[in-house]
Amino acid sequence: MPQAGVLGELEPFWMPFSPNREFKKEPRLIARARGMYLFTPDGRALIDASAGLFCVAAGHCRGEIAQAVARQLETLDYAGAFLRAHPKAFELAARVAQYTPEPINRVFFVNSGSEAVDTAMKMALLYHRVRGQPQRQIFISRERAYHGVNLGGTALGGMANNRRAFGTGLPSVHHMRHTGLAENRMVKGQPEHGAELADDLQRFCELYGGENIAAVFVEPTAGSCGCLPPPKGYLGRLRTICDGNGILLVFDEVICGWGRMGANFGAQAFGVTPDLMTMAKALTNGAQPMGAVAARQAIYDAITDAAPEHGIEFFHGYTYSAHPAACAAALAMLDIFDRERLVDRARALSPYFVDAVHALADLPCVHDIRSIGMLAAVELHPQGAPGARGHEAQKRLYDAGLHLKSTGESLILAPPLVAERNHVDEIVGKLRDVLAKI
Ligand code: PLP
Repeated sequence: MPQAGVLGELEPFWMPFSPNREFKKEPRLIARARGMYLFTPDGRALIDASAGLFCVAAGHCRGEIAQAVARQLETLDYAGAFLRAHPKAFELAARVAQYTPEPINRVFFVNSGSEAVDTAMKMALLYHRVRGQPQRQIFISRERAYHGVNLGGTALGGMANNRRAFGTGLPSVHHMRHTGLAENRMVKGQPEHGAELADDLQRFCELYGGENIAAVFVEPTAGSCGCLPPPKGYLGRLRTICDGNGILLVFDEVICGWGRMGANFGAQAFGVTPDLMTMAKALTNGAQPMGAVAARQAIYDAITDAAPEHGIEFFHGYTYSAHPAACAAALAMLDIFDRERLVDRARALSPYFVDAVHALADLPCVHDIRSIGMLAAVELHPQGAPGARGHEAQKRLYDAGLHLKSTGESLILAPPLVAERNHVDEIVGKLRDVLAKI
């Protein structure tokens, strides 16, 4: 266990999404990283089975990104995000638009996935308002969804603990049922059952009036709750119902985007084009905080054309929108994506990864395994309080040299896309050793 002595005082840092009291008694620290590995302060290596928090697609501490950020900070550290802009912001928007599906080609930068979600909500409200439909105020999302932690995203979210403490949030949101059906247990890839769950949206249109609904938010594959790939036909059915009712479809691609599904974005992986897409995380390889909303050109045009000639069209933005250092990191990351063909690598490794993870199905503690692309979850049978077993497993895995994100009883695997087969073997081997004893 790392020594408190090297840490100084632990109490002042109020840790996010963590049991502060437990952690500070028994800290599990990461002091440095390289490639596929994280290292504790005393030099012990942990294989990174979840790319940090789904961010580090190109592996840790990439020199190209560090150098690009350093160069940028010596050239232009900050200019002002409103009424001023720097060249890299334009260059990055154009590069991002090469990865998004046509006609999604207008890119608004923010600093996180949460900000991307709330920004997309405001874009949807404004889009309808300028088109003479200000009554469209209702949002639809899904149980077990995670859309970040700002107030809009908290209201959209469908994970009970993330909502309970804060009321229902401000916007009016209704939640479709999640797609984690018992008959889809242990299925690799997209399950056969559950496309009809998209009809929840049709029922909401009938109950609340389709003309009052602004947008539907879904993660193409629900990630943070523990990998729920969309049933075959499900996303297409949502698209059809949205089109029939003038509702915007928003894909929250914060985890699915940038290769995780074996395609540029979930949109391409599942062959359904939304109206807005949110992204963050792997956009900078996690090296700088950055997110974005990519919009159909028609949405950008409707909003910009509605404003007076010299008027601001979208009263929204952050001091650090398109921050020069974040843009430099993202451009360096996109160079890596292009050069190292990370999306193709993810697609090529996926069958091996999926088979390896599903081989854990024989362990008595394993209740379910779900997987798609380079994302998978091993869900344990609960034992004790909800989430207690997953939490315990995550700690034992750290001690055994493996880092991953756990949610409830699900252990979520999302290794960097530069992983090789031997890394998959190491991850699955460590999981087997620890889970066999749990
Ligand atoms: N949306 C989705 C789908 C996410 O998975 C996350 C984070 O995991 C977010 C939004 C929030 O992103 P951030 O933590 O960068 O605010």
